Amino acid sequence: VKVIEKEEAKKRGVNVDEYRGVWVFAEQREGNLLNVAIELVGEGRKIADALETELTAVLLGNKVDDLAEKLVKYGADKVLYADSELLEVYTTDGYTKVIYDMIDEIKPEIMLIGATNIGRDLGPRISARVHTGLTADCTRLDVDLENRRLMQTRPAFGGNLMATIICPDHRPQMSTVRPGVMEKAKYDENRTGEIIKFTPNLNSEDIKAKVIEVVKGGKAEVQLEEAKIIVSGGRGLGNTEGFKLIEDLAKKLGGVVGASRATVDAGWIEHGHQVGQTGKTVRPTLYVACGISGAIQHLAGMQDSKVIVAINKDPNAPIFKVADYGIVGDVYEILPELIEALDNV
Ligand code: FAD
Repeated sequence: VKVIEKEEAKKRGVNVDEYRGVWVFAEQREGNLLNVAIELVGEGRKIADALETELTAVLLGNKVDDLAEKLVKYGADKVLYADSELLEVYTTDGYTKVIYDMIDEIKPEIMLIGATNIGRDLGPRISARVHTGLTADCTRLDVDLENRRLMQTRPAFGGNLMATIICPDHRPQMSTVRPGVMEKAKYDENRTGEIIKFTPNLNSEDIKAKVIEVVKGGKAEVQLEEAKIIVSGGRGLGNTEGFKLIEDLAKKLGGVVGASRATVDAGWIEHGHQVGQTGKTVRPTLYVACGISGAIQHLAGMQDSKVIVAINKDPNAPIFKVADYGIVGDVYEILPELIEALDNV
């Protein structure tokens, strides 16, 4: 009966004042912190400072002590670190159980998780177990200081409007956050903080699905999020061959190839290259959009680029509204000229 009462109380809501502190999940793979983990430390730091509370990075893994140190240097006040062979590889059951136990014991008011494949699996599992809400795939976070509420903003209705979502009666307030959107925290060798070892109450029976082997994809993933220069192709290229010109220009500039969804849907290029709402969010120093109209869903992934160059034969194409430099013309005339000009540099 007691268990049911507790469950019911949780469903109705909790005493929000019992919950304090901002947590970010520091996702690591094979002992390397993901960029999104560092972005979340940056964003979490701002939120924690605004709320005058502590920022804790939650780290799970096997013998990744050096990452705990790194998280402190990036700006976490505390690192809550669960170290176990059972946590070496991500499993839904294992990670959910340990983080649920942490939340149950320490009661944070906010928890942010990167919207990676793992984060998208882990976030909903934890939120369901704690009986709280989760806003998936946030692109912006603000704080309503008076009510200590996280204002979680994400694209809705196919990116046609931005919805701001709150979680008034339950804690923690949970969001998954799009990789590449928030600014990374700055590393500072002199920062100090506390590393707390959390002893996980976990045994192999708790993990129902076992990872037998990790098989890596043959082709290296395109590192769009990291790229300083991106040359992207759109439907204006007309066919898959058009991407040869995009590749040539990218190579000349020392950049990588991006694409609009129209070209991915047409099968001209793999999904790993897609920029936009359902692709990658990028913020390179230079983004060259070739034959891309500038649909809102594409802009959502690239409009924070430092310098945007657009090549389009339609002078009224919406991409010109966000472009710093616009070239009105046919990609098949402009691109070869640009490539040739770069040959002579
Ligand atoms: P088009 O819109 O067809 O534009 C082609 C452009 O090329 C035109 O402006 C045209 O003037 C120009 N052009 C044609 N020929 C030439 C030439 N020879 N030289 C120069 N210019 C030329 N889109 C994304 O990109 N990323 C996403 O992540 C994404 N997610 C989406 C999610 C949802 C839920 C929905 C509904 C849509 C999404 N879209 C996304 C699709 C988006 O709405 C657009 O359909 C898509 O971005 C259009 O791609 P495009 O600009 O290449 O093609």
